[in-house]
Amino acid sequence: MTGQNGGVPTQVLIVLNQPSSDAPPHSSMAAPFAFFDPAAPLLTALDLGATRGDGIFETISVGNGRPQALEHHLRRFIHSAAALELPTPDVDAWRSAILAAVGELEPADESSVKTVLTRGVEGDGRPTGWVFATHSPDYSRVRVEGLRVVTLDRGYRHDVERTSPWLLAGAKTLSYAINRSVLREAARRGADDVIFVSSDGFVLEGPSSSVVYRVGNRMLTPGTGLGILDGTTQASIFRYAESVGFETGFEQLSPEKLRLADAAWLVSSVRLAAPVRELDGATFRVDRELSASINAHLQSLRD
Ligand code: PLP
Repeated sequence: MTGQNGGVPTQVLIVLNQPSSDAPPHSSMAAPFAFFDPAAPLLTALDLGATRGDGIFETISVGNGRPQALEHHLRRFIHSAAALELPTPDVDAWRSAILAAVGELEPADESSVKTVLTRGVEGDGRPTGWVFATHSPDYSRVRVEGLRVVTLDRGYRHDVERTSPWLLAGAKTLSYAINRSVLREAARRGADDVIFVSSDGFVLEGPSSSVVYRVGNRMLTPGTGLGILDGTTQASIFRYAESVGFETGFEQLSPEKLRLADAAWLVSSVRLAAPVRELDGATFRVDRELSASINAHLQSLRD
C-alpha cells in the first residue's frame, strides 16, 4: 500500500493466497489474501503471465467506494479462465479481495480495480492472482467531445469463436499487445481509437471497448458469439436505455451500415461511453444529450 498523502493509500495491491480452490495455496498457513506495497517487486521472472501473456484480467469501475457490475465481471473472469483452461477462480476469495482493496483505497469520484490471474510459474501448478486498485484518469472531456475512430481488420472471421476456440477470441487474456499496437496504428492515421472489423466484413469491438450505436429509437450492439467480449458497460447501458424507452438489440452490421447510424459510442468500464465523432476520416454525428445521460447514469450506477 502507498499512502502518498501520508495516510490513506491512492493505490492498493492485494495478492491472493489461493486464487482457485482447484489448485494448492501458496502457503498453507497464510490468510486468504495479503496487502503488498504496489511499488515493490511481486512476480518471479518465470511467471507465465509475464513470459507468455498466459493469464486473464478484468478492469472494474469503482465509484463512491463501490465496484460497478461486479458480478458480471466475475462471471466474465470465470468464462475467460475456462477458455484458457486455467484453474477456476474462487469467486468468493476474489470478491473479498476486491472489496478489501476498494475499502482501503482513498475515496475518489472515480477509481478502478483490476484483477489478474496468471498460470503461475511453469510446472508449479499454482496460479498467481492479484487485485490492484487505483484512482482513474479524468475522462470527462472524451465523454463529451468524443473520439476519432478508424476501422481496422482484425484478421479473423466473425465466427472464429466457434470455428477456432484455441484462438481465445472473446476471452479477456493478458495478451493485449495487439490491442495496444492498433492504437499506435490509429495514431498514425490521425485517430484516437479503433473499431475492429472481422475479415468477412462485420463490425466487432474496440481494442478495449464494446461498440454501441443508435438507430432511431433503437440502441444496438453487434452481439455476442462474434469472438468479442460480453461487455459489462454495454449491458448496463442497455438496461438504462430500456428504462427510458429505447428498444435494444443485437445486430451484426458492416462498417458501411455503421456509418448510417444516428450515433455510436465506444463503451467500457472506467472510460464509460465515449461518443464516436469521426469514423474513418468522416465526421460522425454525436448525440450529446444521450451521451451525457448515459454517462451520468453509469456514474450513478455502482452495483
Ligand atoms: N472489448 C474489449 C476487447 C475490452 O478489452 C473491453 C474492456 O476492457 C470491452 C470490450 C468492454 O468491456 P467492459 O464494458 O466490461 O469494460
